[in-house]
Amino acid sequence: MTQQTLVLIKPDGLKKSLTGNVLTRLSETKLDIVASKIVKVSRQLAEQHYSMLKDKPFYEDLLKYIMGDYHKRKVMALVYWGEDAIGKVRQICGSTNPEEADPVSIRGAYGRITTKGVYENVIHASTNEQEAEREIKLWFQPEEVIVDLYPTKTVKKTREERAWA
Ligand code: UDP
Ligand code: MG
Repeated sequence: MTQQTLVLIKPDGLKKSLTGNVLTRLSETKLDIVASKIVKVSRQLAEQHYSMLKDKPFYEDLLKYIMGDYHKRKVMALVYWGEDAIGKVRQICGSTNPEEADPVSIRGAYGRITTKGVYENVIHASTNEQEAEREIKLWFQPEEVIVDLYPTKTVKKTREERAWA
């Protein structure tokens, strides 16, 4: 099954200069990167991304974590594309809890649990096709992804936009 999956290198990964290491590990999958950008995560984007976890006790801290309150205010967002992309990326990421994750996985090697109990696990990766579609559409516009997987439509946008002066 050809899939796309959303990867985020979270603010702890950027703060610790792990971008290169993480991308090198992910290149073992032989998947294609079809979108990438650096994002300053707004409260609204953080809430939408983690909407499934809003009832969890760690939710507020999780929002602060992904917005960069504890590290630096940036996230690297990427879309990987290819055969079984979702499972292949999750495999290299490792388990959610960095202390339980395989030590050679990205989370096992670089993650930690804070004194507040938040799992700072360096990387996000979509867990299934439904989640991948929702997340890719949340983080990227169609023209930012160079391989089309999801149908698009043409709409006329009239709002004002920032342009180079
Ligand atoms: N998380 C946490 N404590 C928990 C569970 C999750 O701090 O007990 C954080 C962790 O950073 C995780 C994110 O919330 O990556 C999203 O949780 P999810 O259950 O979706 O795990 P994932 O899909 O990221 O493995
Ligand atoms: Mg998840």
